[in-house]
Amino acid sequence: MIQDDADLPFDLAKLDRLAEVAVKVGLGLQEGQDLVVTAPTTALPFLRRVVAQAYRAGAGLVTPILSDAEITLARYREAKDESFDKAPGWLYKGMAEAFEAGAARMAIVADDPMLLADEDPGKVSRAGRANSAAYQPALAKIAGFDINWNIAAYPGLDWARRMFPDLAAEEAQAKLAEAIFAASRIENNDPVAEWAKHNGALKARWTWLNEQRFDALHYTGPGTDFTLGLAEDHKWKGGASEAKNGVICNPNIPTEEVFTTPDRNRAEGWVRATKPLSHMGAIIEGIEVRFEGGRIVEAKATRGEAVFKELIATDEGASRLGEVALVPHSSPISASGLLYYNTLFDENASCHIAQGQCYSDCFLDGAKLSKEEIAAKGGNSSLIHVDWMIGSSEVDIDGIKADGSRVPVMRGGEWAHRL
Ligand code: ZN
Ligand code: ZN
Repeated sequence: MIQDDADLPFDLAKLDRLAEVAVKVGLGLQEGQDLVVTAPTTALPFLRRVVAQAYRAGAGLVTPILSDAEITLARYREAKDESFDKAPGWLYKGMAEAFEAGAARMAIVADDPMLLADEDPGKVSRAGRANSAAYQPALAKIAGFDINWNIAAYPGLDWARRMFPDLAAEEAQAKLAEAIFAASRIENNDPVAEWAKHNGALKARWTWLNEQRFDALHYTGPGTDFTLGLAEDHKWKGGASEAKNGVICNPNIPTEEVFTTPDRNRAEGWVRATKPLSHMGAIIEGIEVRFEGGRIVEAKATRGEAVFKELIATDEGASRLGEVALVPHSSPISASGLLYYNTLFDENASCHIAQGQCYSDCFLDGAKLSKEEIAAKGGNSSLIHVDWMIGSSEVDIDGIKADGSRVPVMRGGEWAHRL
């Protein structure tokens, strides 16, 4: 169902502010810069505002690329089996070309994250794999932080119904809107200033972590006794950062994490997930894995174990880690107590790790490093990048320095040091 402004059960002034923040803070869109935006049709009221804000900020050309939940389902219901190994490589090549020519990228998330939950898992994973492979040329520019990019969220009706199945549709959408607006920090009248403050707090945190030069992190908690080596010349970051094209942007709105690159060969011990993982329409719960030499050598889940094992087997890098992120348990998203079934929100509720591709920008002078140099420093590569949560109020984290000395980083899920 496509809603008009008149159908929306929330304050449209807040939606205007969210669009303004996404364009000004999220993208840092430059005068004359082109923009490619992907969005589901359910987010049209927001997309229209983003496009208007972009042109107001001096955009050259804004190109929206729409998807539609019903159209996606039509493929699963009607397409021949061969269809599920196909992906629009031509489109992604074109996107990569636009990025090379200087365009920025925005992705709006709004659909029900569980849209494909009832479809054939084999088809879902084949289509996902084909899409990941075809998307590679465009993803490389984003993962390599060549361009300014941003993901922002809009309270789509079906997503809201998924999160609040017991509420009437309108109430559910109002509730999700409220949660997104609060997490996206657009509640007060000067959200751009609010974001400057938030980015400052994140910067103080990653500056401290960079000064410590930890060699590894040690996690302890229920089901977790886990040591994770950090990559050589790793760099912590979070909040606003500068893309290789010189533009300062906030890739994720909301964001609460500081993160860096682990060493793909140095992870040891058991780690237990503290929240469910929603992956391509499946819910994976009760994840417990054991690492040896950086690789997952044992994996269990109380629900969705087959999907989880398939994910690990995607390629060699999928069984190793490409990201480690710290988020205090008291972050506003965690405090909301909601499960969004969407990584943009759920990963910002808790400390997490990600299997798969690392971010080259999490290395000192990362922009100048070749793929081989990144690999030599311990950076991981994979077709996937999947985050899952390992933080809670019961998890402690120590930083271990090269000389073996330990510094408390988190206690009971909160930062151990006031900055
Ligand atoms: Zn993360
Ligand atoms: Zn991640």
